[in-house]
Amino acid sequence: MKTKEFKEIGNLLSNSKKIVIVPHKNPDGDAIGSSLGMYQFLKKLQHKVVVIVPNDYPDFLKWIPGQKEIMNFETEENLCKKLIAEAEIIFTLDFNALHRAGKMESPLEQAKGIKIIIDHHQNPENYAKFTYSDVNMCSTCEMVYHFIDHLGKKKLIDQSIAEALYTGIMTDTASFRFPLTTSKTHEIIGYFMNLGVNHAQVHSKVYDTKSQGSLQLLGTALSNMKCLYNNAVAYTFLTEKDLRDNDYKKGDTEGIVNYGLSLKGVQFAVIFIENKKENIIKISFRSKGKYDVNKFARKYFDGGGHINAAGGRSDVSLQKTITRFLSIIAENKSTFQNC
Ligand code: 5GP
Ligand code: MN
Repeated sequence: MKTKEFKEIGNLLSNSKKIVIVPHKNPDGDAIGSSLGMYQFLKKLQHKVVVIVPNDYPDFLKWIPGQKEIMNFETEENLCKKLIAEAEIIFTLDFNALHRAGKMESPLEQAKGIKIIIDHHQNPENYAKFTYSDVNMCSTCEMVYHFIDHLGKKKLIDQSIAEALYTGIMTDTASFRFPLTTSKTHEIIGYFMNLGVNHAQVHSKVYDTKSQGSLQLLGTALSNMKCLYNNAVAYTFLTEKDLRDNDYKKGDTEGIVNYGLSLKGVQFAVIFIENKKENIIKISFRSKGKYDVNKFARKYFDGGGHINAAGGRSDVSLQKTITRFLSIIAENKSTFQNC
């Protein structure tokens, strides 16, 4: 985004406004962290702000400063619709297409407020007046930091805002190991630590709260894992029964797909998760190096995301989905055969 547009946004924010902040459906650490970082920042500027999530988010994020004030569109639909319709500014964070807001898509489409996208996914839609999109950023949380900095308000970032932003940078980079983690990312992390963020505590709050069931699910996924083409492709799955037997809660399967990436020689890791409630198979794709899972997810599984991390879905059974996946992979096997 150009300096001129940051200036325009700065002018818009120079007096008190009604503002709604929306992250994507099934919000993750980056979605909630960026929304709450922005929420606290805008509150400091004396705006009337509310964060509305399309649906619930994992318990391991339910400590981030400001999270108690988050509204859930699923449980307070009428009030949320009213707030969206009345908003003068709407920030949509960590997503690139309005349908990613789930049932909030149509209220957002109809809303008259000025929309501002801040996001790092590939191929952003053109629905906002201002689009701050950068696919080279490791996280939307890092972008919120830059956004605040561009407005000349970096001094307003305090420990509490920094904790929210730290969380999303940590989760979206899988603890600073994905390639989009830059020296600038580490510089920002250093800045946050100097503000008092306790990195060990944040890490522990997010990652060391697993239930026994979620560890069992990890075990099941690891033993279901199949490797193809000299381990270049690794895929696994979890059935609805696996989830039920292990007392599944939102967030329990997050990160499991990344274990496939630790296989020697792997390029492409996939997990298929049966979701009977939505009657879909939720798919997560991860890759190493140049293999573009955003393109793969878009082309074959109605999804998208980033080059090395994307999601998608399938409307046929788990078995049929995996069979289809295997035939697509077989068609593209030259990509993996030389691995
Ligand atoms: P996950 O596999 O963790 O659900 O998602 C990986 C990345 O892809 C995340 O950044 C997520 O926001 C994005 N993503 C997941 N599903 C979809 C989808 O259906 N469409 C798009 N555009 N992005 C997705
Ligand atoms: Mn993100």
